[in-house]
Amino acid sequence: MPATLDPADHRRPLSDLNRQQLQEWAAGIGLPRFRAAQIYAALSRRGIQEFAGMTELPASLRRRLEEEYRLRALSVRVHLHSAADLSEKVLFGLRDGSAVETVLIRGENAGGRARHTVCVSSQVGCPAGCTFCATGLSGFTRNLTAGEIVDQVMFFSHRLQQEGARVSNVVFMGMGEPLLNVRAVREAVARLTDPVGLGLGARSITVSTVGIVPQVKSFADWSGQTNLAISLHAPNDDLRNQLVPYNRHFPIKDLLHAVSVYLERTRRRVSFEYVLLRGTNDRPAEAQQLAGLLRPYGGLAHVNLIPWNPFREGRFIRGEGPDANAFAEILRVAGINATIRHSKGLDISAACGQLRKTVADE
Ligand code: SAH
Ligand code: SF4
Repeated sequence: MPATLDPADHRRPLSDLNRQQLQEWAAGIGLPRFRAAQIYAALSRRGIQEFAGMTELPASLRRRLEEEYRLRALSVRVHLHSAADLSEKVLFGLRDGSAVETVLIRGENAGGRARHTVCVSSQVGCPAGCTFCATGLSGFTRNLTAGEIVDQVMFFSHRLQQEGARVSNVVFMGMGEPLLNVRAVREAVARLTDPVGLGLGARSITVSTVGIVPQVKSFADWSGQTNLAISLHAPNDDLRNQLVPYNRHFPIKDLLHAVSVYLERTRRRVSFEYVLLRGTNDRPAEAQQLAGLLRPYGGLAHVNLIPWNPFREGRFIRGEGPDANAFAEILRVAGINATIRHSKGLDISAACGQLRKTVADE
């Protein structure tokens, strides 16, 4: 993969094409069907990062492809490896010169099996402007295409395959608000779960949203077994308005109603994300208020408490330690599942939008 994408190179990324478009292209130039299937498998199953990896194709066809297309929509600008926990973070350059971040988190599931989670971006920047979020503070540029989303996963899929491992989970928790880019996110989920391609289980994919009410209500129309996470962060509108300005459009009551609509249709457990900001939203009173809000969902709600990851312009203090434990305990006593999410990659600023800001500020 080239280090930068040449803006004078106008070839379309081949990874922009879905399976059907690829078949149409191949049929259009008179190729037999199995050639389209080979190209698709190389791109979407093996995740090759260079045309040279398509060794099963005749050299003339590879050349033909390369004349018309570039292979991927992304190039690696910065690649960081965490010394502390083996997580990795890449700043990808896009064709228009902008950049997005993707993180690979290595862990284990309950049975002790390796778990490789790719945290993808769905937009360049984010229009929601949450005040504790590096992405939110850096404004909004544009939506990503489905190909740009899928290519983030395929980069790490290819890397992991070299180690004999595979991507096990994908979370839309990088830069951007996925439910403000539903078309591309939906197409990306369809491509990632295509059994002929990467073949991820929909249950292994999580879409995290700040709570775009109409899109939460209609999430069940297309999400199948895909998981939903709601970024709540505050148990009352006064506080949430300060932390999540979109709350002024979609107050907590409306958001929770949308979640109920989703739950009635799917009966699938919903996660609530709650970033812990010391002295701002992490006191016992807020825990009790949160417990009151979520009690009606019973076992269908799970709260993820996320100690805030600091960044240069961040004006908050990380909530952690005994205060975080006490917060979780109040929820548990009220019958609500709660876990404190162990932060990964702190030494490579793995929280969303932080690397891009650091590089841009240098
Ligand atoms: N826009 C979507 C998805 C991307 S953000 C959303 O807000 O849900 C993914 C998660 O990371 C959200 O729960 C978000 O609140 C959280 N987050 C953002 N900045 C953070 C920071 N500095 N420390 C910890 N979590 C953060
Ligand atoms: Fe956007 Fe999510 Fe960051 Fe809020 S937390 S600004 S919705 S990316």
